Amino acid sequence: MSHHSVYYFDNNATTRIAPEVVEAMLPFLKEHYGNPSSAYGFGREVANHIQDAREKVAALINADPREIVFTSCGTESNNSALHSALATQPEKKHVVTTSVEHSANIKFCEVLQKTGHKVTFLPVESDGSLDIHLLEKSIRPDTAIVSVMSANNETGVVFPIEEIAAICRSKGTLFHTDAVQTPGKLKLDVRDLGVDFLSLSAHKLHAPKGIGLLYVKRRTKYQPYVMGGGQEQGRRGGTENVPYIVGFGRAAELAVASLPEENTRVRSLRDKLETGILSKIPGTVRNGGKEPRLPNTSNIAFESVEAEGILLLLDQVRICASSGSACTTGSLDPSHVLLAMGCGVARARGSIRFSLGRYNAEAEVDYLLKHLPGIISRLRANEEPKPSRHAVAL
Ligand code: PLP
Repeated sequence: MSHHSVYYFDNNATTRIAPEVVEAMLPFLKEHYGNPSSAYGFGREVANHIQDAREKVAALINADPREIVFTSCGTESNNSALHSALATQPEKKHVVTTSVEHSANIKFCEVLQKTGHKVTFLPVESDGSLDIHLLEKSIRPDTAIVSVMSANNETGVVFPIEEIAAICRSKGTLFHTDAVQTPGKLKLDVRDLGVDFLSLSAHKLHAPKGIGLLYVKRRTKYQPYVMGGGQEQGRRGGTENVPYIVGFGRAAELAVASLPEENTRVRSLRDKLETGILSKIPGTVRNGGKEPRLPNTSNIAFESVEAEGILLLLDQVRICASSGSACTTGSLDPSHVLLAMGCGVARARGSIRFSLGRYNAEAEVDYLLKHLPGIISRLRANEEPKPSRHAVAL
């Protein structure tokens, strides 16, 4: 079923909550309000449902349920992994990450730099890929953790996590991956990957915002980031967000079931959208390599137009897309991901991300392809050659 009040091409920013997820949550917003830590049955029953959800999210990534720590979001999961690696190895003061991570990682690392730590932000190639040899060389004896996202939220470019995890293991360094964009789109198996930590966020897979998880491998030492009660086996204080945890569990089940569809139907919709734009509109080019890439994401640069203008006109015809990540929209800064790929400021400013999902219908792609060429030519026609108003700030 498609949802025609809007034409939604921003599934990497967030997703529509699945009706099945809402259904699963409702009893926990209504009658089952007990505290899972309570000694009486009314509380213990709720604890059983948390356990059930834990098993479902664990199955999504082939983890043991005991390796799952529920958090408030992907951001908290990322912060917690880095925090733990540094807290459990106080003699190690160095972190390796990439220049294209989500701000949830970049900002945390920038604070680390101001508090006596060293951070290496690895560059990427023009297609968005990582130089694995360079990554290997950047690991030092005092490197506490390497953190590399599994798929980029802006371009969809996929990094070789299994290979990176093997390098880290051989050097005795902990490894974290921000896999927030991956579940339901590509297979995720923590055993195959060999990671120590992995972050997920429920609102990217048709569950509500404000619930996430951190996978912590058995035997990997862990120090909590949010401290308080003994919840989550002492790994994350705070009374559990029961309805959202239950919703996350249901969404994880649906994500496992919809994986084949995402890689066939959604992938072909994305390909139709991408080839449609590239063939119908002159002066367009894809940002990031074609493969390996998330099956739902397409990031396109539109020559001599500003993304801001495109998004405004798309919005007038009820089309939702984005420039950069939703978390940085509204700032004048061009995408740090595209800049790291060497796109140049003008191209970065003229780039739009389209991200599809389970609820997109082909008619929506047709609608987009009908409106977009006109929007681009209108913007190009209005544009007289003038120095960029942003030039000074650079
Ligand atoms: N990491 C990536 C790659 C993301 O795309 C997002 C999206 O918001 C996050 C982390 C942050 O997740 P959350 O919004 O749950 O904090």
